[in-house]
Amino acid sequence: MYFSFRDQLVLTSIPKSQINFPLGFLIFCDAQLNQKILMLRRNQKWFLFTVAILCGGWGFFGHQKINRLAVFTLPVEMITFYKHHIRYISEAAVNPDRRRYAVEGEGARHYIDLDVYGDSAAYQLPRYWNEAVEKFGEDSLQAHGIVPWHIYRAYFQLRDAFMLKDPAKILKQSAEIGHYIADAHVPLHTTSNYDGQLTSHVGIHAFWESRLPELFFNEYDFYLGKASYIKNVQLAAWDAVTNAHLALDSVLQFEKQLSQQSDNLKFNFETKGRQTVRVFSFNYSKKYHAMLNGMVERQMRSCIKMIGDVWYTAWVDAGQPDLKTLINYQPTEEELKLRQVELAKWKAERIKNVRAHEEEAADR
Ligand SMILES: [Zn+2]
Repeated sequence: MYFSFRDQLVLTSIPKSQINFPLGFLIFCDAQLNQKILMLRRNQKWFLFTVAILCGGWGFFGHQKINRLAVFTLPVEMITFYKHHIRYISEAAVNPDRRRYAVEGEGARHYIDLDVYGDSAAYQLPRYWNEAVEKFGEDSLQAHGIVPWHIYRAYFQLRDAFMLKDPAKILKQSAEIGHYIADAHVPLHTTSNYDGQLTSHVGIHAFWESRLPELFFNEYDFYLGKASYIKNVQLAAWDAVTNAHLALDSVLQFEKQLSQQSDNLKFNFETKGRQTVRVFSFNYSKKYHAMLNGMVERQMRSCIKMIGDVWYTAWVDAGQPDLKTLINYQPTEEELKLRQVELAKWKAERIKNVRAHEEEAADR
């Protein structure tokens, strides 16, 4: 049984045989979530829960690496400032996922369900937000995700931050547009079948975007050259989404083929800290990764390059402000406190969501 409601936790029960525990519940936060299994001890019995902890896109690991690597594509006029603040740029890469339960409308910024608009939607949907609103209405667009349009909006916010020469805003907007661009490169962020739940691939989302990059990241080549100017950021965002969507069939088909080969041990367990986590086994991951023939690396390279390109483009379009004067920017005590308060609020909202669905699971 599968309860699907986008932007909320999605709960599904899975057959006992699949997990070999007395009670199994698989809990997913939507397409942007990372799977984990928590062992919860209740009434002296162990219950197995697979819980998707708020993470999303490329997972915390991937998003942070992606933003970090994008810094090294920047030209000399920009790189010193960005390098100086590389820790923040990397860490804040995951803020859009952290706040998705606390900020209304946040969830829709991370994906677009192209399939709900019919065949060739990637080519036929209105490129610009106002045209799309005119055609479909804002509520309908929000319901199916808005990532390509939101990237364009975020680009203007970054350009304006450069025009204002506001270092805090430049860093915040740079980190966050990096997140949305990275999400737009994930094939499963372009479909309503976001976790393969419609085609018996449940769990594939976190497998593709978190497990594979974590296992094979060190094998990837991230030499990407220098950032270049993008003539039209809106169209570039659509290109990214379209290319990701074209890869979707392979993502699903190859996993199906592999899972049908009975000699493959699909899952095993790993202990991470105090948690026992069910993961796709290393051998299974390796075979799937090989079948994808470099896809994860290609998508990662492509989004890192595009992030650098968009940062550079926003800076050029703002008149190439001198960033040297901003290098020594330090957030004030007040700003730091505000960040902490914000983070605590995001965490509380997330925990509330996860708990609500654990209880729902336990009642079933
Ligand atoms: Zn995301």
